[in-house]
Amino acid sequence: MDDCIFCKIAEKKIPSKFIYEDKTTMAFLDINPGAPGHALIIPKKHYETIFEMPESEVSDLFRTTVKVAKAIDKIIGPDGVNIFQNNKTAAGQLVNHAHVHIFPRFHGDGIDFKWRRVVLDDDDLDNIARKIRVGME
Ligand code: AMP
Ligand code: ZN
Repeated sequence: MDDCIFCKIAEKKIPSKFIYEDKTTMAFLDINPGAPGHALIIPKKHYETIFEMPESEVSDLFRTTVKVAKAIDKIIGPDGVNIFQNNKTAAGQLVNHAHVHIFPRFHGDGIDFKWRRVVLDDDDLDNIARKIRVGME
């Protein structure tokens, strides 16, 4: 896609702090890192969110993610690692080319991914789970 920064990185039209690539995926450091070793994994092909991706490419994306995360864990030596993926602006997606974040964590780093609990009773949870199950059929 012409106007997409991650497509340009995948096509090597603009530089990146390159880590890894294979046929369908690429990994590089986040330009605005929240921690040393904060990395991004992308499909080389343009998909806006993970929802448009064929299953095989999602598998490739997460295979590369785990491979790179293990290397980051070994080399950077964080106390923990968050792996996350934002879809659409409400979820914090800024770059509209699907990507996974690998985010090394350190005790006392002050980052807080915690949410406030919404009030849902047992019936609500049953209904939601049932609707999702039906939606998957
Ligand atoms: P998200 O909020 O999940 O869309 O995250 C997009 C991430 O892409 C942000 O953490 C940015 O710092 C990062 N980013 C944007 N442009 C570049 C770039 N040219 N190279 C590396 N990372 C980038
Ligand atoms: Zn793109």
